[in-house]
Formats: sequence, C-alpha cells, structure tokens
Amino acid sequence: MNAEIIAIGSELLLGATVDTNSAYLARHLAAAGINLYRKAVVGDNTERIAAMVREALERVDLVICTGGLGPTVDDVTREGVALALGRELEFHEALLEQIAARFAAMNRTMSPSNRQQAYLPAGARAIENPRGTAPAFLVEDARGTVIVLPGVPHEMRYLFEHAVLPYLRNERGISSVILVKTLHAVGLGESVIGEMVADLMQAENPTLGISAKQARYELRIGARAESQAEAEALVAQAEATIRERLGSNLIGDEPLAAQVVRMLAEQQQTLTIYEGTLMAPIYRALSATPNGLAHVRGVLIHPLDRPTDEHAAASLALAGAISAADRWRSDLGLAVQASSTSDERGFTAVSVALCTPTGMRQATRKYDLNQPEGWEFVGTLALDLLHEYLNPNTTASM
Ligand code: ATP
Ligand code: MG
Repeated sequence: MNAEIIAIGSELLLGATVDTNSAYLARHLAAAGINLYRKAVVGDNTERIAAMVREALERVDLVICTGGLGPTVDDVTREGVALALGRELEFHEALLEQIAARFAAMNRTMSPSNRQQAYLPAGARAIENPRGTAPAFLVEDARGTVIVLPGVPHEMRYLFEHAVLPYLRNERGISSVILVKTLHAVGLGESVIGEMVADLMQAENPTLGISAKQARYELRIGARAESQAEAEALVAQAEATIRERLGSNLIGDEPLAAQVVRMLAEQQQTLTIYEGTLMAPIYRALSATPNGLAHVRGVLIHPLDRPTDEHAAASLALAGAISAADRWRSDLGLAVQASSTSDERGFTAVSVALCTPTGMRQATRKYDLNQPEGWEFVGTLALDLLHEYLNPNTTASM
C-alpha cells in the first residue's frame, strides 16, 4: 500500500507551528510497512485542500490528512475533502449528540459553531475522538481511502494508534513490519567501511545505509517482514555479519561519546582532560553528549606550547595527560597536542595520550585542521583511545 500525508493549517505555512504530525505519521507508516510517497502542507483553504487530496489520490491508495477539524470558520478540512471526492456534507444527529455529551462531561457549554463538526462527507465513517471534540473520519472511495485526523498532536497520535492502525491491520490486511536498527562504528574511513559491507548495501531486504560524521559512522539496518519476530531475525543476521567484518571498529548501538560516559560511570573512573589548544576538542566532544562531563574532574587548557614536529607533540601530550591526572587526582588523564607545523598538503600531526593506572596509551594522526570539522576528528580520536581502554572486549590497539 502506498500513502501520502497532507498536513493542513495556515499556521504551518506561516512557520508559526512546526509540522510534527507528519513526521510522526511518516515513522508509523514506515513501521507498518506502508510506502510513503510524499508529505505536503496546505493552508486552511477549501479549494486548495481539495486539489491536494485529488492529486494525491492519483498517485496513492491512502491519503492521511491532519488538522483543520475544529469548530471555527477557518477549519475547512471537511469541506475540502468532500469537494475532492465530489460528495456533499451530511449532518449526523448522533455525532452532534456525542459532541454535546463531551462538552457536558467537561462542564463546558457548546457553542453553535460546534454543530459544524457533526457534518461529514456523504458515506464517510466517523472515528470517535475521546481526546477532543472533533470527530475524525475516513472515506473509502473508488480512487482510494482518505483518513482525516485532528491537528492537536496528542489527539492525532491517539486516533492513529487506536483507530487508524487497527483499521489498516483488520480491514486492509496490512501486516508487515519495518524495523530499523542503528549501529555505530569508529576508526576506519567511510570508503573502507563501505567496501567491507558493500554486498549488504546492495541488498534489498534488509537494507543497509551508512552515514559518516567526523570519523564516526552510523550504520542503519532496515528490515521488512510479516512479523516483528521475522524482522528482528533479519536485523540480527545482518548485525552479526557487520560485527564479524568490522571487528572492534563496530562499537555497538550507542554513539561513541555516550558509551564512554556510560563506561566511566560503570567502572567508577574519573577523568581529567588536558587540551594543548584553545579549540578544546575533547571537552567539546564530551560536553555535546548528555551528562558528558559527569565524571570529569577538571579541564586544563594550555595552548602556549609550540611543538615543532609530531614527536614533540607526542611527548607533550603524554606529559599533559600525566600532569592533569595528577593535579586533580583522577584515575585517568586524556590529552591532546597538535604540532605547530603542517606538511605540504596542509595536514598537521595531532597526538592524543591517555594516562591510566596501568600505563600509557597513545595515538598520532594527521588532519587538515583548517577544515571547520578538523578538530572534531581529533575529539573522536581521543574518545576512541579512551573507549578502547574502557571496553573490556577490545584487545587491539590503535
Ligand atoms: P480541534 O478540533 O481539536 O481544534 P483541529 O483539527 O482543528 O483540532 P487545528 O485547529 O488544525 O486542529 O490545530 C490544533 C492545534 O494543533 C494547533 O495548536 C496547532 O498548532 C496544532 N497542530 C495542527 N497541525 C499540526 C501539525 N501538523 N503538527 C503539529 N501541530 C499541529
Ligand atoms: Mg487549524
């Protein structure tokens, strides 16, 4: 089944309200195995709503609209959908009674304009809305099915879960499930990772997509199946293959910084940071994650050294890690120091060092630090060094 979403409301076009309803619907349609062709936004205007619905029905079997079911004159979604389908609006006494009962239950007086909410396109089926006053509805037409939900996000979500999904499952035979799992990797270039799993990236089910951000990689496995259990099995199979091929470069289903922070907490380790540059890449990488600084005892920023080559940078990083850990009496010291010269390509050697109770670890790489994201690579390198130390499953060193 193919679908489109139409979000209705002039406030969405004005940028006053962010259309979060469409994103919610998109996620849940995907999870139900329904292909989404388009999402559109249209203002509260009968003709334009009608045109949008008609167009969508030329492409897909299912159109889900959200918004514009309220009692005020600017809420014209009912009119727009009726016009698109060439049906009259019909008054439903039973709906008016329901609306009146809801107002009575809330101790509010119903205004005459609420009467408008008891009108539905001819042949439409009302969807009761226990969360609000406006009933939602669905219309099955030769051209396709149109489902109309309220704009208030919690009402829309409630009706999608309690009425739309059961309708799709029970009456439209939608049974497939799409499961997405994200894995994180570090330490290898994007093209190398891509080559290692090239066959999986060509496959249709499960699918695999990779995105890279400053030497951190996200691998998204997506599986489609008739049941949750089957989808989980497909994902697990792909995950096992990826794990085998990437080895310790695959760090799991949590991003690098979050993992490091969790491991510091679990292993009750405290950390001090030494930054040989005002760019403070380690501090930045950790502080960008929730609670990232919870186990950090102190940060020493010392930008004045001018190491002339990578050996000088490496020894300053080692000395920095030791002196910072010593100064704040932390279990670990993590340091970075860049060389003050760069090579003919514009690359600069950067050293990271980790001081631990059982010894030192170190890594040196070259980066183009004139690129805006250059220092973020350095932050990743430092956290990767720390991660390798904290991770009981890695034995390989960098
Ligand atoms: P009700 O009958 O309960 O008033 P409605 O269908 O008339 O619902 P709208 O008047 O369009 O809904 O919008 C109600 C509220 O929901 C507004 O505050 C609006 O900002 C918010 N809203 C509407 N559409 C969306 C959307 N697509 N995403 C997020 N919020 C939305
Ligand atoms: Mg509105």
